[in-house]
Amino acid sequence: MYKIPLAEIKQKILTGGKVTLEELEQRIKAKINELSGLISEEGAAHIIANELGVELVNNSTKKLKVKEIYAGMRNVTAVGKVVRKFEVREFSKDNRSGKVCSLVLGDETGTIRVVFWNDQVDALRQVSEGDILLVKDGYARENNNDREVHLGNQGSIVVNPEGESVHSVREGTSYQRRKIEELRDGEGGAEIVGTVVQIFDPRFFNLCSQCNKKVVESGGNYQCNEHGSVKPVVSYVMNLVLDDGSGNIRSVLWKNQTNHLLGKTEEEVAQYKDSPTTFEEVKADLLGEQLKLLGQVKKNDMFSRLEFNVQMVSRAKPEEEIARLEK
Ligand SMILES: [Zn+2]
Repeated sequence: MYKIPLAEIKQKILTGGKVTLEELEQRIKAKINELSGLISEEGAAHIIANELGVELVNNSTKKLKVKEIYAGMRNVTAVGKVVRKFEVREFSKDNRSGKVCSLVLGDETGTIRVVFWNDQVDALRQVSEGDILLVKDGYARENNNDREVHLGNQGSIVVNPEGESVHSVREGTSYQRRKIEELRDGEGGAEIVGTVVQIFDPRFFNLCSQCNKKVVESGGNYQCNEHGSVKPVVSYVMNLVLDDGSGNIRSVLWKNQTNHLLGKTEEEVAQYKDSPTTFEEVKADLLGEQLKLLGQVKKNDMFSRLEFNVQMVSRAKPEEEIARLEK
C-alpha cells in the first residue's frame, strides 16, 4: 500500500463523483467498525476507493508528476527541473565508505528530493541546477515525513532529454523558519532570513576527480590516498555572517551554493584563487544584501560556535517577508 495522505485519498474518491463527502465519512466509519477498529482511517479509505473503482495512483507506465509520487512506489519515472543540487557527502560506516549526493527535482506540481549513492554520484557530475532531468525506474520511500526517490539498481537518469521541458516549479517548504537566536545544534532543517554583515574570502582546495576526496599536493603532483596520482578538481567553500536582529551566525556555503549566490560558474569562481583582490568587488556587492538560507545548524567544535551549513541560498523577497509579518 502506498502512503497517501488521507485528505488526498478522500479528495480522489470525491472527484470520482460516486459519493458525497458525508457518505464517504460514513462509509469510512462503517468500514472501521466492520473491521473491529483494526484499521486506520487511511486504510479504510483505501478499501473504499477500491470498492468504488477509484484509481488512487497513476498506474500507467507513463511519466509521473511529482505530486503523483508516493512512498512505496516502484518504477518511478518522472521529468523535472533541477532546482537545487546539494554537495556530495562522504561517509564511512562499518569499515565501508561511500558517498551520497541529492538534488531537488521540481515540476508544476511540486518538488521532491532525489538521492544518488556511490557510483551514481559520478553520473551527477554533468548535472547543473536548471537542467531538465529524466529519472527512470527509481523507487520512492519515506524519509523525515517526506518522500524521496532513489535510483536503486534499475534506475537511471537522462540529462536534458530531447523534447522535454518544465515551465514552472511549485516549491514546497519543509524547513522551519527560525530566528537566529533560536538556532540549536542538530535540530534539523531551518530557514533563516537576514542581512549579510561580513564575508570571507573563499577557501580553495583540490579534490580527486574520481572519488571527490581531498588530495595532497607534492611537487606539482596530486596524490589521492586511493587513486594515486590524479588530475585534481578545484573546489571551494565561502563563509559569510548573516544577522537577523536577534543574533548572527557564520554560514557556510559550499561550491554549488556559492555559485548560485554569486551567479557564477565554477571556472569564474576558480579565478578568484589567483586574483583575490578581484573578490573585493563581490564582497562589496553582497554586503548588506538580504538572504534566505535553508540548511542545518552544526556545532563547530574547533571554534566552539554554531555554524549554519547552507543547503539552499536565495535572495530574500521583501514582499514575502512583509506578508509574513502581517500574518
Ligand atoms: Zn580518489
